[in-house]
Amino acid sequence: MSSQRVIGVDLGGTKILAGVLDRDGSILEAREVPTPTESQAELVEGIAGAVEKLLGPGIAALGLGIPSVLAADGRSLDSNNIPLAGIALAEVLGERLGLPAAVENDANAAALAEWRLGAGREVAALVMLTLGTGVGGGVVLESGLYRGWAELGHVVVVADGPPCQGNCTGRGHLEAVASGNAADRAAEALWGAGSTAEQLVDRARAGAGEAVEALALIGRRLGAAIGSFVNIFGVRLVVVGGGFGVAAADFLFEAALETARREALPPGRDLRIVAAELGSKAGLVGAGLVAFEALDGTR
Ligand SMILES: [Zn+2]
Repeated sequence: MSSQRVIGVDLGGTKILAGVLDRDGSILEAREVPTPTESQAELVEGIAGAVEKLLGPGIAALGLGIPSVLAADGRSLDSNNIPLAGIALAEVLGERLGLPAAVENDANAAALAEWRLGAGREVAALVMLTLGTGVGGGVVLESGLYRGWAELGHVVVVADGPPCQGNCTGRGHLEAVASGNAADRAAEALWGAGSTAEQLVDRARAGAGEAVEALALIGRRLGAAIGSFVNIFGVRLVVVGGGFGVAAADFLFEAALETARREALPPGRDLRIVAAELGSKAGLVGAGLVAFEALDGTR
């Protein structure tokens, strides 16, 4: 039993990260290939190809983390930039590869990984936010991972604020004001077209006041959303991951915590905001955990 291994797949808009994992969440082997986005058939071929290269003795299940809202039957409803609409990916790939398989939203999978094996392993409940190109969210409550729709990046933080991204028609959503793309726009406002979030963080680290202030504003907006999540879910720990979230942690978290504590009702005022520990591997590790759930019948 303990020697059982699974394959996890973290499907992203530009790359497919597939890996062999054991029950401790250790990644024993991994492969990265570009994501085919021309058609759904090519996408399925691309994922199957990456997984087939990792198949071998002892591989017992397949888990997938995908950037899509999932219906109760496991079909993906929608996804920006990736042709996932309407497909039951776990069913299709599980049958093809002859393995038990399960699928989870990628941000939910990352939250599961941080809760079991990362920054949240000491607590019973947490909210995880991944600040990357967009903003993903996952919620773990006392009963375990919330499997449903948890689009925490699309709560309104600034009413009538800047337009959101992709297919979203909203304005002033968390994703529009606290994502890596929002930081790109903040950098462009300071230094012109083509400036990036990376430059914003680098210059803040070098002591540039305008960069520090721009990141603090993003932090306060992040904190406003976090205060609301604390009031809704009653969590005391918020884990922030994603490329931008981790890179900018030093400049976001203090402002976010101050604002979140102001917005939270008294029971939530001892909340903590911490960086994700599993970094860019959280999605892959989470997909592996989802595979073990499929194997154990605990989903
Ligand atoms: Zn939105």
